[in-house]
Amino acid sequence: MYELARRTSGADTVVNVAGVTIGDDFVVIAGPCAIEDEMQIESAARGVAHHGARLLRGGAYKPRTSPYSFQGLGDRGVELIAAASRRSGLPAVVEALAVEQLPVLAEHVGMIQIGARNMQNFALIQAAARTGLPLLLKRGPAATLDELLYAAEYALLEGNPHVVLCERGVRGFDAHTRNLLDLAGALRLKELTHLPVIVDPSHATGRRSLIAPLVAAAAACGLDGAMVEVHPEPARARSDAEQALDLDAFAELMERLAAIRPPKVASSACR
Ligand code: PEP
Ligand code: MN
Repeated sequence: MYELARRTSGADTVVNVAGVTIGDDFVVIAGPCAIEDEMQIESAARGVAHHGARLLRGGAYKPRTSPYSFQGLGDRGVELIAAASRRSGLPAVVEALAVEQLPVLAEHVGMIQIGARNMQNFALIQAAARTGLPLLLKRGPAATLDELLYAAEYALLEGNPHVVLCERGVRGFDAHTRNLLDLAGALRLKELTHLPVIVDPSHATGRRSLIAPLVAAAAACGLDGAMVEVHPEPARARSDAEQALDLDAFAELMERLAAIRPPKVASSACR
């Protein structure tokens, strides 16, 4: 049994990412799939901060299916998102693909993401946990909820309690959506664990038209947040262009969300 991750009679965990809490109010994490250049990440950061995102995402080391696809800017990408993070005031969330990337991430970002493909890379999870930074652990595309919770347990056993779980879609049989967003599974996770649970409808659906309604659904059913891909010019995105929202669409998403779940504290940019 996942003794540390399982729900008990105690309070739910609230994870603090450089001053932004996840687990007490619905939090939106937004930004491009990949950091591409200084202008792109600066403009994404400024835009999503203005519309109420609380954390900035961006991939520097990209886990691409094809080795011929854009692999990310690597360490340089981390430096660029760290600068955008300082200017926008949004802590950065960046994925680690390998243990060697952890020192640079630990120096520059607020939260380390363990991607779906690495959900059972236990050595990476343990090393990431030992940085002491909060972790965003994504569910593998064919992982059961118990397997996800056991993966989280590896981090908790390292003495790092700051773990957020992310449902990002599981493999389905219909090509109309990239994956199946398992909302019921995400809700079931909330019954099983005290850790915060968020969703990623961008990677779950692969379609920009479906993202806002699913973020709204996640908020309406009591989940803890959502991660969405936003690009200042989606047509030019070097990865996951079809699922990238532009800043206007992101603004609409945030308005729709406020109608369902008014933010407890308006972000400074919206005051
Ligand atoms: C990502 O969030 O950049 C990503 C690659 O997602 P996933 O690991 O869920 O496929
Ligand atoms: Mn992506």
